[in-house]
Amino acid sequence: MNRREEDEMSVFPGLTRRDFLKCCATLASVIGVAGPMAVTSVAEALEDLARRPQVVWSLFQECLGCSVNLLQARKPDPAQLILQQISLNYHEAVMAPAGFQADKSFTDTVNSRDFYYIVEGAIATGIPEAMTVAGRTSMEIVKDAYQKAKGTICIGSCACYGNIQAAAPNPTGAKGVGDYLRNEGGISNAVVINSPRCPGNAEDTLAILVYILVNGKLPELDDKGRPKFLFSQTVHDNCERRGHFDNGEFVEQFGDEGSRDRWCLYKMGCKGPVTYAPCPINRWNGDISWPVKAGPCIGCSEPGFWDKLTPFYSKESGIRTPGDISPVAIGEALGIATAIGIGAHAVVQTARGRMGKGGPLSKERGPVDQPDHWKKQSEDPDDTKPGSEKGGS
Ligand code: SF4
Ligand code: SF4
Repeated sequence: MNRREEDEMSVFPGLTRRDFLKCCATLASVIGVAGPMAVTSVAEALEDLARRPQVVWSLFQECLGCSVNLLQARKPDPAQLILQQISLNYHEAVMAPAGFQADKSFTDTVNSRDFYYIVEGAIATGIPEAMTVAGRTSMEIVKDAYQKAKGTICIGSCACYGNIQAAAPNPTGAKGVGDYLRNEGGISNAVVINSPRCPGNAEDTLAILVYILVNGKLPELDDKGRPKFLFSQTVHDNCERRGHFDNGEFVEQFGDEGSRDRWCLYKMGCKGPVTYAPCPINRWNGDISWPVKAGPCIGCSEPGFWDKLTPFYSKESGIRTPGDISPVAIGEALGIATAIGIGAHAVVQTARGRMGKGGPLSKERGPVDQPDHWKKQSEDPDDTKPGSEKGGS
């Protein structure tokens, strides 16, 4: 079959059937669908996604970083799947209409009650007029759209929890969508799906939409409104520097020898051990990079991180490390369980012989353990992840 015939078999122009199925296999792994029909189910859901759902995307108190992330090219390209295939009826930054026409598009789609609602940006509840679109405040817009939508997804930490805009003293009363709806909005049982991180990740968003279509229901959420299938592990759990943590090998200051050897950044303030997010797996910029490649995690996916986790470059006190067993006194707001878990993990790793003689990233030991779906991608000859022949450092 030649390329043109393959293209014609795909619902997605420019994406061959073969590439499309590869994309489906990756997504099936991310959302936890297994078995012989997994790829077919995801393919059907994506084709369904391409034909039916209308999406309205609101931008409130934000920086547009989440949308920019969505537009980053990747092959197979989730932005292509989302922007070219679903009916994105309203997105102020990328839609062609402006002014009255744009507003009409929003109103018509919302009133059809046949759409998914994606929100990027925080809601201004203290000074509602600080965030208005077409004469309506963010509070009015989001309450109306939420009540008519088939589902609401908050992409990025601003829409989920307020993010930087909500940092003290929070002059505009910035809040996440769910928090606003359940309190000032008066909808006490409001449920939104939170997909935090800063910026929010396009693959997370696509995975959530596909999950809903494949399973016919919303994903199970944790107590912070995040899908468990994406946010149940810490950054630390899947970090590529984890072997060095287990081995007690830490960067002591930026630019030192450990820094050049890509040792663990815990002592430089890394918040990976207390941050629940799939950052090491669903990365950014065409899957090229993620924050810990360059510096410590600052915990941007956690509610209130700006106030709770600063100063960002100071060591998080009380986390048990192999070479630094100190009393557990981790920040109360984030709970003690993580620290205990890390201590327990260190014990298990010691029992497995991962500590003491050179960690999994050392020359003697080879690559660090990776999650299954990461392994699958790494086996792909086109893969550019570190560790593959074509990969970076
Ligand atoms: S979550 Fe981050 S990237 Fe997204 S809009 Fe907010 S500040 Fe910008
Ligand atoms: S402390 Fe940070 S850099 Fe070190 S292993 Fe954990 S997440 Fe990675």
